[in-house]
Amino acid sequence: MKAEYIKSAVYEKDYPDTDLPEIAFVGRSNVGKSSMINTLVNRKKLVKVSQKPGKTRTINFFNINDELIFVDLPGYGYAKVSKKDRELWKVMIETYLTKRSQLKAVVLIIDIRVGPTNDDKLMYEWFMAYNVPTIVAFTKCDKLSNNKIQKQLAIIKKEFGDGLGDYVLFSSVTRRGKDELWGIIKEKASL
Ligand code: GDP
Repeated sequence: MKAEYIKSAVYEKDYPDTDLPEIAFVGRSNVGKSSMINTLVNRKKLVKVSQKPGKTRTINFFNINDELIFVDLPGYGYAKVSKKDRELWKVMIETYLTKRSQLKAVVLIIDIRVGPTNDDKLMYEWFMAYNVPTIVAFTKCDKLSNNKIQKQLAIIKKEFGDGLGDYVLFSSVTRRGKDELWGIIKEKASL
């Protein structure tokens, strides 16, 4: 599989000029987003793992097999980010979500042990409001027993209230859920 960094952008004018379908990845800092993208494309470091939390403040575009584009959205929820940076982040994400017509779905990454944070819930509500199909990927599943995972899921489903929609149990360590997530991504991208 070909997986290639295209470019980074903050403003719409800097987005890559392509009309391939896009799948975006988002989650709080340190949730395992870089690891998930690397796992999906069988690379160790297409996306840098464990940069300083909150450091990636750009939208990063990756060409996957000349068929689709993975979009790495900057993480959120890092306490030490200033109010001004938070506002910039919001405008950056909102612009991408509302203006990028080839966006087919967002993968919202949540730590299975932690469940959705307030920021995750706000993100989810945004996606619903903007009609962006959302796939919830629960990561770090290798850290819990299957029994514990089912218990967590039951609690989390209640938190999502009116339906969680598409979701996958994932681990970048065991690669659990990789094929399943790819299946949903391809379906959303009409591949
Ligand atoms: P990002 O900030 O969301 O891009 O998160 P990273 O991919 O950099 O991962 C943050 C930390 O969590 C790193 O130490 C990873 O090795 C670890 N990590 C990521 N995914 C998993 C996973 O599925 N299982 C376990 N056990 N650790 C993970």
